[in-house]
Amino acid sequence: MPATLVLDDPDETKPAPGPLRRVQALINTLDRETNDDQLADREGAPPLLVELGLLSPDARLDGSDLDAVTGVREALHALVLHNAGGPRPDARALRPIRDLGDHALLRVRLDASGAVAVAPADDSVRARLAGLLTVVSEAQRAGTWELLKACANDECLWAFYDRSRNHGGTWCDMSGCGNKLKNREFRARRRSTR
Ligand SMILES: [Zn+2]
Repeated sequence: MPATLVLDDPDETKPAPGPLRRVQALINTLDRETNDDQLADREGAPPLLVELGLLSPDARLDGSDLDAVTGVREALHALVLHNAGGPRPDARALRPIRDLGDHALLRVRLDASGAVAVAPADDSVRARLAGLLTVVSEAQRAGTWELLKACANDECLWAFYDRSRNHGGTWCDMSGCGNKLKNREFRARRRSTR
């Protein structure tokens, strides 16, 4: 197994900054063009989820946890489609996030210096997933969230971070997805031989 699977993927040409990279990497575990889903099964998913901080390295993954992760992934994708100028997601699209948010999965911590932080309440997948949503919350306040967008090529829909000066970027790749297509084929081959 390589040291990192997705967070340092050199094929990711437009990575998001800081912790938002984890959100982008989660969204892009499903290649919507080829339907290649790195979280498709409980055997293959754990190393990726550990890398994304969503699974404790010594924990077992159960099917309902994996469903929660992929549900939130799709809801986040609906939100980045909206960031790219797409329609506002409807209630059904956002339900996985609302369902998760209805449970007390986060805890407020106060350190000796008086800094307040919101953190996962325990080590469960759902609590860690709620922790990832605090990254979205912080990015929304910082103004970086709206720059995480889905590619305008509706066969692609890859999540990219828009670093263009006018924030008007619409493609995941400068050459209109062409290079990435090749990279993806390469990546798919590399995965199948691993
Ligand atoms: Zn694209």
